[in-house]
Amino acid sequence: CFPAEKELGDFDFTAIPKLNKKRILELSTCDFIRKRECGVFVGPPGVGKTHLAIALGREACRRGLRVKWFTATGLATEYAEAREERTVLKLERAIERRDLIVIDELGYVPLGQNGAENLFGFFSKCYERTSVVLTTNLPFSQWPQVFGDERLTGALLDRLTHRVHVIEMKGESYRLTGGRRRKGGASD
Ligand code: ADP
Ligand code: MG
Repeated sequence: CFPAEKELGDFDFTAIPKLNKKRILELSTCDFIRKRECGVFVGPPGVGKTHLAIALGREACRRGLRVKWFTATGLATEYAEAREERTVLKLERAIERRDLIVIDELGYVPLGQNGAENLFGFFSKCYERTSVVLTTNLPFSQWPQVFGDERLTGALLDRLTHRVHVIEMKGESYRLTGGRRRKGGASD
């Protein structure tokens, strides 16, 4: 269910020098998943958040862990449909059966009241039961913009940040630079 084939081995750590490679390699052992901890990749577009989330997800699959990939809006839509069809329990059971759920791109699109409540329900379900890896362009302080509600966001962050590895990814977009640094800065 991953949107692309990305591996840790293809990730150019020199393109984003502020990123702690050791921490990422530690995450790739998947111990954090076994401990039901979460990972949040925060940073601007193009810095490799999705790449690393896919790479970790694939690594987990290789280790026999059960992984499911959603975009934030995709998950909100699945919930909305499940509510209409009265199959939310089924959806939540399917979620509970996973060891890791990856949620990509939280923050690009406001979720609306229902979407926010559904995602809140999702995080509550996962709390201490299922590991979550999340990518977002927004620092936690701006999450109320997505969820539209300070209190809901507070309660959600409380659940998510219980045991979380926050990976801040600061750097230039790899899409825009085309991995310039990897090529020795030739295009500077
Ligand atoms: P984000 O999710 O942060 O917007 P992506 O992970 O989608 O960024 O990265 C954009 C593209 O650039 C993808 O094709 C990704 O594989 C590639 N990319 C980003 N950073 C790196 C990197 N450090 N090394 C190799 N490829 C990278
Ligand atoms: Mg992305």
